[in-house]
Amino acid sequence: MLVIFDLDDTLIDTSSTLIPHKIKACLDEINDSGLIHNDFQNEFSKNINVHNQELLDLCMNSSDGSTALNYYLAKLNLKNHLSNKGANYLLDKCKKIYYSSPPKNIKFKEIEGAKSLIESLKDNHDLVIVTKGNSETQLQKISHLKSNPGCFKKIIITNEYDKTDHYKKIMKEFNYKPGNILVCGDKFNTDLLPAKNLGMKTVHARFGRGKLIPKEFINSDYSVEKLSEIKDIVNNSQNLSKKG
Ligand SMILES: [Mg+2]
Repeated sequence: MLVIFDLDDTLIDTSSTLIPHKIKACLDEINDSGLIHNDFQNEFSKNINVHNQELLDLCMNSSDGSTALNYYLAKLNLKNHLSNKGANYLLDKCKKIYYSSPPKNIKFKEIEGAKSLIESLKDNHDLVIVTKGNSETQLQKISHLKSNPGCFKKIIITNEYDKTDHYKKIMKEFNYKPGNILVCGDKFNTDLLPAKNLGMKTVHARFGRGKLIPKEFINSDYSVEKLSEIKDIVNNSQNLSKKG
């Protein structure tokens, strides 16, 4: 069968590696901006570790970083400590920092079991990655997974949230029926729904922010808490085993 993997928070533990790093950079930006009145600035600097923990918890429990930053900066009430323009400027700056490429020396970790899952599937199945993001960064992450350069038959790095067109192209290129394709990802709307609409089988990987969503809200064929469970899904899916 053909197995299509998402990358971030499906094979690579992106959230827990990147989010703490991004949050520190955002708080440093606020702290060093020179825009905030002295009394607030001193208080902010003194409690920077508390702010760090609070924003980290918010980011890990929000649907995305932008939502968390909107909420957090509104809660700081920066508008009382500098002009409206200044508060919006800092919010925009923080969002830019949050969504910028990570430094080259950052060490990404696999989601537990990713390398061994790939190793166990690669000889009998076609493995593909479709991931959204910056090419250089995504390849940097993939380099932590590949023990053998031939593990993945194709790697697609896209700027689009909707993966439908890429799934269609892969299906055609590898000549599989949609029912013989399994798509694994942590985000239902962007990873799994396009696959479901094409008749492919779907596995919801309950990692990163994927674990925040209750199982009953995810309309996938399978839901896993460990990557090792995917091996059994593939091996037990007799209908999925025949190419064509
Ligand atoms: Mg993902």
